[in-house]
Amino acid sequence: MSTFQAPKGTYDLIPPDSAKFLAVREAISAPLKSSGYGYIETPGFEDVELFARGVGESTDIVTKEMYAFETKGGDRLALRPEGTASVLRAALEANLHRLGNLPVKLWYSGSYYRYERPQKGRYRHFSQVGAEAIGAEDPALDAELIILADQAYRSLGLSRFRILLNSLGDKECRPVYRDALQDFLRGLDLDEDTRRRIEINPLRVLDDKRPEVQKQLVGAPMLRDYLCDACKAYHEEVRVLLTAAGVAFEDDEKLVRGLDYYTRTTFEFVHDGLGSQSAVGGGGRYDGLSEMIGGPALPSVGWALGVDRTVLALEAEGIELELPATTSVFAVPLGEEARRVLFALVTELRRAGVATDFSYGGKGLKGAMKSANRSGARYTLVAGERDLAEGVVQLKDMESGEQSPVALTAVLDELRARLA
Ligand code: ATP
Ligand code: MG
Repeated sequence: MSTFQAPKGTYDLIPPDSAKFLAVREAISAPLKSSGYGYIETPGFEDVELFARGVGESTDIVTKEMYAFETKGGDRLALRPEGTASVLRAALEANLHRLGNLPVKLWYSGSYYRYERPQKGRYRHFSQVGAEAIGAEDPALDAELIILADQAYRSLGLSRFRILLNSLGDKECRPVYRDALQDFLRGLDLDEDTRRRIEINPLRVLDDKRPEVQKQLVGAPMLRDYLCDACKAYHEEVRVLLTAAGVAFEDDEKLVRGLDYYTRTTFEFVHDGLGSQSAVGGGGRYDGLSEMIGGPALPSVGWALGVDRTVLALEAEGIELELPATTSVFAVPLGEEARRVLFALVTELRRAGVATDFSYGGKGLKGAMKSANRSGARYTLVAGERDLAEGVVQLKDMESGEQSPVALTAVLDELRARLA
């Protein structure tokens, strides 16, 4: 029988590398947890219409990248391609916005699915940690989220990332700009697909990475020149707050991002060591999204950071995370009686909170010590018949190599003292 492989565009997280992913998720979520964001978890799939409406009918995500399917019961669902629409759907459904405590601040962590052309940093299954602040229009909230993402990356030791910042305007000024941009774009020499995009979502054309398109975009009307006074003032305040926090950013007037729902503040975190998949995270304000999915007006802002690309960024900067050994103590029994006694001791240590592992499979001393070494444990407990007769186990410090007998009844206290 042939064996199976992970589906195209996916990969498995396997020890010891998987520990890095856990650490990155932890590092990204830590600043959120200590800034008033509560944890939310939503299903891995939703009604396909939620994404069609919430992410946008004209986006690559919805037209090309979504895993949509019909269930046996006839429901049209899609594996989630992103987090924001689901989180907002869940918040509305639970009436979180009616509890009178806005903004509702939420963070999440999970798997996302996009049918993309797989390449380094671009997968069909990937992992994000995200944050959403729902129901408040306040430049300090936009600034808070950018500052927290910056803090998260810095806590991992990353420094070669940049923050790109732009404003996409609001429902007052963006339509005026949209018209002006459409007029300009219609006069260019573009392919069928792109011409269609001009009519549905002209801002996305600015995002086109192809040089032949970029060349023609020189002289295109810029949104900056069309922002209304309210949007200008809002954006300026975000910039002032970021500057005051010592968070450096670059104004990027071409930054539009791939989702339809963004208004005003948009930003992207790019890393210079990642080649073409350089975006490690991004987000922005989405004041219109709630209404687009049937809710009340709820101005909101959020971001999602890619865990996979953040791990690649760590590698690009040569950063080794200091991951504490998962096992502190490793027990090696010599003989049947020792096996029973040590296994009981292991259980006692574990219940007392000491991370302990055991040599399974009846290995000899040599093989068992190899396992002890591999486990990364600082201490090994070895016991044979003679030790048991004396009521002791041999406690070996794997770093210094020193070994001494410790009374069975005193092992827990001794280890606690040494590990403290
Ligand atoms: P890109 O322009 O690279 O396609 P995006 O704008 O589609 O990115 P977002 O939807 O903003 O990405 O998602 C936020 C983050 O999630 C990205 O910055 C990236 O780190 C990560 N991400 C998005 N798509 C993928 C993918 N296919 N594989 C791995 N990570 C991804
Ligand atoms: Mg994309």
